[in-house]
Amino acid sequence: MSDTKVYKGSCFCGAVQLTVSGEPAGMGYCHCEDCRLWSAGPVNAFSLWQPESVSITKGEGNLETYNKTDNSYRKWCITCGGHVLSEHPGLGLTDVFAAVIPDLPFEAQLHVFYSEKVLSIKDGLPKMKDMPAEMGGSGEILEE
Ligand SMILES: [Zn+2]
Ligand SMILES: [Zn+2]
Repeated sequence: MSDTKVYKGSCFCGAVQLTVSGEPAGMGYCHCEDCRLWSAGPVNAFSLWQPESVSITKGEGNLETYNKTDNSYRKWCITCGGHVLSEHPGLGLTDVFAAVIPDLPFEAQLHVFYSEKVLSIKDGLPKMKDMPAEMGGSGEILEE
């Protein structure tokens, strides 16, 4: 276990700090409307982790949570408003937004919810209509 990789992340102001360890369960871009409206951006770059791989090392009490649906519990720092992570109980995974873990080599594998996209990204990666079948989606792949 000594070679387990650990990456540090934080919110915009640094009041909340975290680590993720090991390898992510998946990395990519989400185009869904919920991510867009909450992030105020056209896509969300996600890295998915087993919940036990994510540790809030500072400022856990500084995190606020909002869940519009039971699929996603979105957390942000109450001081700076910076978005930190989103828990997905149905998937059993936690999305630590790639942007808050700058040291993590971000290697996107796919795009999800491309049917809801407002920004086309022609990078040659698979464009899932919603989610991969093994994650409960249709598994359908769309044109770029
Ligand atoms: Zn903050
Ligand atoms: Zn999304």
